[in-house]
Amino acid sequence: MTLTDPPSTVAGAGEPSRGQLFIGGVWRDASDGAVMDVVSPATGRKVGEVARATTADVDDAVAAARAAFDSGVWSRLSSRERARILQRAYTLMRERTEELAQAESLDVGKPITFARIIDVNNAAELYEFYASLGHHLDGDVRETTGNTHAYVKREPIGVVAAITPFNFPLILSSSKIAPALIAGNTVVHKPASDTPLSALIIADILQEAGVPDGVFNVVTGPGAALGDHLVGHPDVDKVAFTGSTEIGAHAAAIAGRTLKPFTAELGGNAANILFADAELNAAINTVISAFVFNSGQFCMAGPRLLVERPLYDTVLGILADALPHVPFGDPADAGTVIGPLASANQLEKVAAMVDRARAAGARIVTGGERADLGGGFYYRPTVIADVPNDAEVVAEEVFGPVLTVQPFDTEEEAIALANSTPYGLASGIQTADLSKAHRVAARLDAGITWVNGWALLDPSVPFGGVKASGWGRENGPEAMASYQRTHSIVFNLETGASA
Ligand code: NAP
Repeated sequence: MTLTDPPSTVAGAGEPSRGQLFIGGVWRDASDGAVMDVVSPATGRKVGEVARATTADVDDAVAAARAAFDSGVWSRLSSRERARILQRAYTLMRERTEELAQAESLDVGKPITFARIIDVNNAAELYEFYASLGHHLDGDVRETTGNTHAYVKREPIGVVAAITPFNFPLILSSSKIAPALIAGNTVVHKPASDTPLSALIIADILQEAGVPDGVFNVVTGPGAALGDHLVGHPDVDKVAFTGSTEIGAHAAAIAGRTLKPFTAELGGNAANILFADAELNAAINTVISAFVFNSGQFCMAGPRLLVERPLYDTVLGILADALPHVPFGDPADAGTVIGPLASANQLEKVAAMVDRARAAGARIVTGGERADLGGGFYYRPTVIADVPNDAEVVAEEVFGPVLTVQPFDTEEEAIALANSTPYGLASGIQTADLSKAHRVAARLDAGITWVNGWALLDPSVPFGGVKASGWGRENGPEAMASYQRTHSIVFNLETGASA
């Protein structure tokens, strides 16, 4: 089966089927046989089906992960051996780049070129990075004041529920699975219902790489029906959630009832501050890519452009001229930069927010409409000016290819506007004055700030939110630490000593 074929719910002879659940190392249908559709955002048409898990299937997946963890087959394997297996997964992901990229493009509507060079590449590098950390897992010996000997071990937590959103299925699952596995945990992964395909290929890759049965499990199905059950499950020891602030807060409350560690990577609404001294061509490229990348469905997108007033009209003019020429359309076309939104729901939500902004008096500089391209979920890149800071389209996360542009007069005003939403995930500063960049960056409420660029991400550099954007960090050793618990072991040196 190639990835352009519809996933099937029926496994072939010995072949893993992408349409099934992966539980305890076995591909199988949902316990009641139910399936859900996979829809292509490029055409709006059904391209396949995946299993729609029941809560009984969630129980089975958690039981498989629990048994695998408790057996020690993974948690007590040397971290170097775990590292070798993750390194093999990296190699297999590289070998299966085209298959993974096609799945991600078919499922999410990502332009195929970006799926290849960004999604697959970044995801594979996460496995490589955490494999490298596996060669250096260690603890500490502590200097104690009494007659004791103390050391601190870092141990896996247990069974991790990894829940991911629709926009970057492959990268965001990898940023959870790789650190969780290298630390010795077992995983139950629930991908978003709109974009489940790549998770199933990853299950196949991890099995081929040598991850023992039960260590990694995938359940596809609606979060509304399965999420509370998975998050609240007594045999789940930690929850790693990426998604909306609303669902994240709900899931955190459920996890709180059983006092589970919970990492929350939630919504964003980043400001991109463009100072008049910036190198304008480079800054404009940054501004455009920051809001159109992944059709704006990027938690760390830059949908709020703050422009120093002398440049305000100039920047609006450049954007109005440039955006209609950014290649827009079929994600399967290698030249496409902006594809469709990932679902009909997302398209409706974005269109409605822009319509409300227009009705409230905002000026649509370019875009502001759907594009009728073969039945897909297309929305033209849109720039909105003359919009107050408390307008919904500024204050809320739009999650589409929509940029609001606001002028500012002083550094203080730029900082205040940047920090004025409930979110605090990412931010950006475009300026030639590096002292100013340091000064402003230090005062932005954000987990990551980019200077003279956007989305400069690396497996070694942590990102994550403050305020309503969540807590915890992904990437870097910080993420691995969130899948470990410390265990202090203290010896009394005064007893048991031979005379
Ligand atoms: P979402 O609706 O919150 O869904 C996220 C995941 O949670 C999905 O797998 C969803 O399953 C599941 N879910 C739904 N109800 C649940 C429940 N009661 N308990 C547990 N899980 C449940 O988010 P989305 O629309 O997929 O993604 C967009 C959002 O994610 C945006 O707000 C974006 O900013 C945020 N995001 C944040 C980051 C970050 O790193 N901070 C990265 C990417 C995206 P179903 O799909 O089956 O409903």
